[in-house]
Amino acid sequence: MTQKIGTFADRINNRLVRYFPGPAARIAASEPIVSFTFDDVPASAWTKGARILENEGARGTFYIAGVFIDGHDEQQEMISSKGCFELGAAGHELACHTYSHRKLSSFSRRGLEDDLDRNDSALGSFGEKRHRRNFSIPFGMASPVMQPLLRRRFRTARGIMPGINRGSIDPHHLAAVELRSDQNYLDAADRWLEDVLQNGGWLIIFTHDVAAAPSFYGCPEDRFQRLVRRATSGGAKVMTVDAAATALGL
Ligand SMILES: [Zn+2]
Repeated sequence: MTQKIGTFADRINNRLVRYFPGPAARIAASEPIVSFTFDDVPASAWTKGARILENEGARGTFYIAGVFIDGHDEQQEMISSKGCFELGAAGHELACHTYSHRKLSSFSRRGLEDDLDRNDSALGSFGEKRHRRNFSIPFGMASPVMQPLLRRRFRTARGIMPGINRGSIDPHHLAAVELRSDQNYLDAADRWLEDVLQNGGWLIIFTHDVAAAPSFYGCPEDRFQRLVRRATSGGAKVMTVDAAATALGL
C-alpha cells in the first residue's frame, strides 16, 4: 500500500500497455459478471471481506504478495498463513501480486521470474494448486517490457484502470474499479455496478482492507456488504477472476 504515486514514466508505461495491447479477447455483452478482489492482502480482507462474500454464497480473489504474509504493512495487520489456508479451503482464489510487492519496472526480467517463482511456491504451500494463476500489477504500474512475461505466466493480469471489461479487451491488462474509503470512490463503484447490471460485461472490483474504520485504501464494511448484496440481487454472477475467465473463455 506504500508509495502508490506513479512517476511520469509509470504513467507513460501504462499508456503504452493500453495502446499496444497483446492479443485481444472479446467479451460479448451478455449477463453481468462481477468479481470482488483484494490486493496485498490485509487480514481483514479475509476476516471481514471473505465472510461477507460467503454469506451471499459468493467467493473472491485474493492477490497476495508473499512478503506480507504473517506480517504488518504500515501498522496494518496482514493476512496470516492460517488465513491463506482457510481462504483456499473455502473456495476463494489465491492469486499473485508478486512476492516482494515492487513495481514491475524495478525488476530485471530474470529478477521478476525469480520473484514470481517465489510467490508461486508461497501460494502453493497453502494447498491450492493452479496451472496458471491470475495476477494483479503492483501499484497498477504496468511495464510494456514485462507484458510478454506476464502473458506467458498468467491467465490474466489486472491493472487499476477503471472500467468494465466488455467488447475487445486485453486479458493481461484488465480494467478494475477501486473501492477506497473516500466517498467519491464508493459512489463511483455504485455507478459502475449499476452500469454492468444494466449493460452486461465483466466488472472487477478491488480494495485492500474491509473494516468499520478502514484505511485510506480500504472499504467500509457496510458499503462492501451493500455492494455484494446489490450485485447478487441485481442478477450478476459473482465469481472469482479464475471462474469468470473460464466462463468467458479466456
Ligand atoms: Zn499492492
